[in-house]
Amino acid sequence: MKKIIQDLSFAELEGLVLALGEKKFRAKQLYEGLMQGKAITQISSLSKAFKERLCEEFEDVPVRVKEVFHSADGTEKYLFEYADGNLVEGVLMKYKYGFTQCVSTQVGCRMGCKFCASTLGGLIRNLTAGEILSQILVVNALHKGDANGQGAQARAVTNVVLMGSGEPLDNYDEVLKFLSNVTAEGGVCISARNISLSTCGIVPKMYRLADEGIPLNLTVSLHATDDESRARTMPVAKAYKIAEILKACEHYFKKTGRRYYFEYTLIEGENCDEEHAKALCQLLKGKPCHVNLIRLNEVKERDLKALGDKAAYRFLGMLEKGGLSATLRRQIGVDIGGACGQLRASYLEENK
Ligand code: SAH
Repeated sequence: MKKIIQDLSFAELEGLVLALGEKKFRAKQLYEGLMQGKAITQISSLSKAFKERLCEEFEDVPVRVKEVFHSADGTEKYLFEYADGNLVEGVLMKYKYGFTQCVSTQVGCRMGCKFCASTLGGLIRNLTAGEILSQILVVNALHKGDANGQGAQARAVTNVVLMGSGEPLDNYDEVLKFLSNVTAEGGVCISARNISLSTCGIVPKMYRLADEGIPLNLTVSLHATDDESRARTMPVAKAYKIAEILKACEHYFKKTGRRYYFEYTLIEGENCDEEHAKALCQLLKGKPCHVNLIRLNEVKERDLKALGDKAAYRFLGMLEKGGLSATLRRQIGVDIGGACGQLRASYLEENK
């Protein structure tokens, strides 16, 4: 595979342009074109010879949309294909204040969570910063008409969640570079405050992230109230204890001043009885955090059941009564199927 030009920051593109003997202002034209989601060969302000030279080294099109599924509620689910044929998925959720895109950070995942489809085939490879960014560039380009702003600033996507396939902190350097490039002024320019990074709780990397001082929304997948139960569905729990995760969250709060979030997927008979609600309140009460309850998307390869709606609201009520700030995540795009990795998994199965 060739290199990914969208990995480069504007300053790095300037260096590249000069090294190839072009005038410095070409970097701006190149950058603007790329940030508008154009292929190298589609940027009309650049000479053919220069574009051909770039394409010797870099992928002209790093990612293509293989399929889009439209939900009745406006949600769009994307299947993206990379230059090497690997597939990842993404979701675009449309809210009044803007569009939120859920991006993938790895092809597959090696964390092994029992409820998650992304992990079924293990980790295939990490995505590069530019490959992650390109998921957004492609979607922005498709929604040009809905965009805010002009030129390279034109964007439909205003919020990003790193909650697609992959464990972002298991691909730390590329994810950090992605965060730097996606927030860069003059580019896609999404404020870090509008970005949520979800992790299964890789504690040392959580400290590293906190020390970077990026004011994003840190979200930890908790899904249990004690280490033993957590390890039943999340193998990573054997490496990092809940107490250590909570300490890392506190450190994050100290460093960034931002409250943090917990995801808690409701799995029937596993983590959502009254005793679990009580334990969760005891664990988190008084902390600057918010709990997002998630309905389980049942994965057919796994034998876990979703909690019914009524019981889910009852669980939410118990958390609120116990003094926690909590919400039950609205279910969107249900008619187009699936959480993390389910679309890719079914595609791979059909095309075996
Ligand atoms: N690796 C990151 C991002 C994963 S996806 C992490 O672990 O946080 C975002 C959230 O969806 C996580 O909380 C994850 O545990 C949850 N999730 C994964 N599969 C799910 C499913 N089938 N149903 C409900 N939630 C799921």
